[in-house]
Parts: sequence; structure tokens; C-alpha cells
Amino acid sequence: MTSPQLGGLDEIVAEHDRAVRDHAALVARGLSLDLTRGKPSPRQLDLSDGLLTRLGAGDLRAADGTDCRNYGGLQGLPEIREIFSAALQVPAAQLVAGGNSSLAMMHDTVVHAMLGRLPGAERRWADEPRVAFLCPVPGYDRHFALCERFGIELIPVPMTPEGPDMDVVERLVREDAQIKGMWCVPKYSNPDGVCYGDETVRRLAAMPTAAPDFRIFWDNAYAVHHLTDTPVEIADILALCAEHGDPDRVFVFGSTSKITWAGAGVAFFGSSPANVAWLLANTGKQTIGPDKVNQLRHVRFLKDADGLAAHMRGHRDLIRPKFDAVGRILDKELGGTGFASWSNPAGGYFISLEVPDGCAREVVRRAAEAGIALTPAGATHPYGNDPRDRTIRIAPTYPELDELELAIEGLAVCVRMVATARLIE
Ligand code: PLP
Repeated sequence: MTSPQLGGLDEIVAEHDRAVRDHAALVARGLSLDLTRGKPSPRQLDLSDGLLTRLGAGDLRAADGTDCRNYGGLQGLPEIREIFSAALQVPAAQLVAGGNSSLAMMHDTVVHAMLGRLPGAERRWADEPRVAFLCPVPGYDRHFALCERFGIELIPVPMTPEGPDMDVVERLVREDAQIKGMWCVPKYSNPDGVCYGDETVRRLAAMPTAAPDFRIFWDNAYAVHHLTDTPVEIADILALCAEHGDPDRVFVFGSTSKITWAGAGVAFFGSSPANVAWLLANTGKQTIGPDKVNQLRHVRFLKDADGLAAHMRGHRDLIRPKFDAVGRILDKELGGTGFASWSNPAGGYFISLEVPDGCAREVVRRAAEAGIALTPAGATHPYGNDPRDRTIRIAPTYPELDELELAIEGLAVCVRMVATARLIE
């Protein structure tokens, strides 16, 4: 964010008055628009309606003859794991296909590490005097909430265009044996769309850590969610960890929530053979097996990695115009004002908007007055505390294009109003 390029005070006051009038007009319209959560739109969900028809009576056996209606198969169907192996960069034999939510898998993985000893751990995390996780910021609020629930301390780490600031990460994990974990959304990250550079991934795999049971929670939620024709590829962290002598360092997560149906998809966990055995030993106490019928209908529907890629192009065709619209409107309304900067992601689900320091909460409040719901300012930071109060997450996928355009125009009015008010104060 550059500092505002301003004219004299008169000009700022005139600009502020104009924004106040625009805001009043906006409030009078009684809008009800929601940009809060990164949900697929109904039309995106329609793309996967084939899930309802691809599977029928008489076609309920997996390739190995397993009757998917019955108990068993704790690791999930081999054929669904094959389809997602390349996208998640995990050998199919080291992937677990589970229920519908990767967040639930992350949650349970933390719980298992709390209540049982991880491979390489000296003790259960519950018996540690303190457990801390590194959190690249801005980041995903549900990661933070999950940790907060278990009293895990959250340590923010700044993001760079290449991923987390590795000088900071390396120093912290080397010095503090109570840092047991780190959140990473390595591709098209939530919310700023950053993709980790190869050197970042290599350093994450190679860095010495004081904790013998340090784990990277590699949430590759947007592995195949490209918005352009040139998919971003990231380095293979699982292979790099093995190469650098710590094969157990990373837990990979992913799901079809934003591929097929967010409420009825398939989630994945991938890791080293030792970690997979550890997870399955724990989940084996929870369940006799996942919903294999759902997994089989995903197999029939997506078919293979090429089918998955083709399906994702259908999503891109629906959501790319929305991302373009956000960029176009922000450019038109705020470009060159110095009041805001924003990300231009090549994939994923979010755009991150940065407003002048101390303005984000007020912008979100003003937008709410005008009937435009935004993710609470601060949600992108641990404990809901964005120390500079400047990051706003925009989730453009769910609203229809015309509603989205209205909402972003309204948001731009709020940014102009709040930013000019700050300058007049
Ligand atoms: N991870 C990230 C980074 C997300 O942005 C989201 C949803 O927005 C999730 C996980 C949720 O995943 P799931 O639906 O598989 O629980």
C-alpha cells in the first residue's frame, strides 16, 4: 500500500463529502449482499449434479470388489486416492480419503496429537507445558479458531509474495521447542492468493527445528483451483521433507469441497507412511470406515486426473468473470487514489483488499450499514487482531455477477469515505 496521493485539504474534504453522499444513497437502497464466506455458487454446485446419476443400483462395488455399502476400507477407496494423488503431490498409498471435510481432518489430527504421541514426539502435546503454531498472516480464520479451541498459542509470521517470511520462520522454529506446528495454504492462499515459491518450500522442508515432533499442516485446499490457463505448480513438500531427512514433517490436507459439493465431498490426508499409520490407528477408534458410496460416485463422476482438470475449467469459466469484475471495479473506483491495494490472484477463492492502517474495521462497519456483509476485519489474523487494522477479505464466488458488482461498488464507496475521514481528522 502506497501512501495516499493527495491534493490539498480542500480536495480531500470535497472527496469525503462526495463519499458521504454516495454512502447515504447506498444505505437508502436497502441492499442485502453477502461477501463473507468463500462458498461455491449454486451454478458451481450444479456442475456436479452428475454425482446424483453416475452411480446406480448394481454399480456399488469398487475396483477391488469391495461392496461400498458395507463397513470397512478405513483408508478410503484406492481409485479416489489415485485421482487426487498428483494434484495433492502425495503417492496414493500414502493418501487417506475420508469424509466430507478437510477441516474436520485437521481438527482431528490436532486432537490425536494432543491425546496420543506423534511419531518422533517425546510426549503427547497435552502434556507439553505450552504448544504454539506459526500462522502466516493474513491467513484462514478457521485454522486459528481450531487452535484457539485447544489453547494452542498462535504466533503470526508475515507473508511475502513467495510465502511466509522464511528468515522469521527458521529463527522461531530453531529457538523454540514448543512450536509444534505451522499452518500453510501453499497454493492460491486464503486470503491473498500467494503461491509458495520453490525456495520457500525447500527451506520449510530443510530447516532445523527445536521440536522433534514439529509438523507443517499443509492445507492444499486450492490445489486445482486455477483461474488462468497456466496452472501454478508448487514444489513437492512431502518428497523434499523425505530428502532432507524428516519424512514425517508434513501433513497434507485437501478436499473436493470446492470441486464438487462443499457439503458432500471427499476430504484427504496425506503424509509419510509412519504418519499415515499413526492417523489410521487413531481414526480406527473413531470409525469402521468412511462413506465409500460417496467416494465411488466421485470416482464415476470425475473419472481420472484429466476429468478433474476438465471439471475445474468449468468452475473457472463461472468464477473468473467475478474475479475480473472485482479487479475492474476496484481499479476504476480506487485505482490511483492511494486508498487501497488488492491482490490479483491466479487461482483460489479470495481477493485480499488492503486499506490504510486503522481503517479496515470502520470500512467493514460502514459496508454493513449499507447492507453489504464482509468477513469481520481482523479475521485474517490470529485472535481476530490485525495489528494494523488494514486487511479485508473479499469472497467473490457466491453472489451472482450483478450483485457482486453492486457490492464492490458499495465497498469502494466505504473505502473512500473512511480513508478520506482519516485524513481530515
Ligand atoms: N482450508 C482452507 C484454506 C479453506 O479456505 C477452506 C474453506 O474455505 C477449508 C480448508 C475448508 O475445507 P473443507 O470444506 O474441506 O473442510
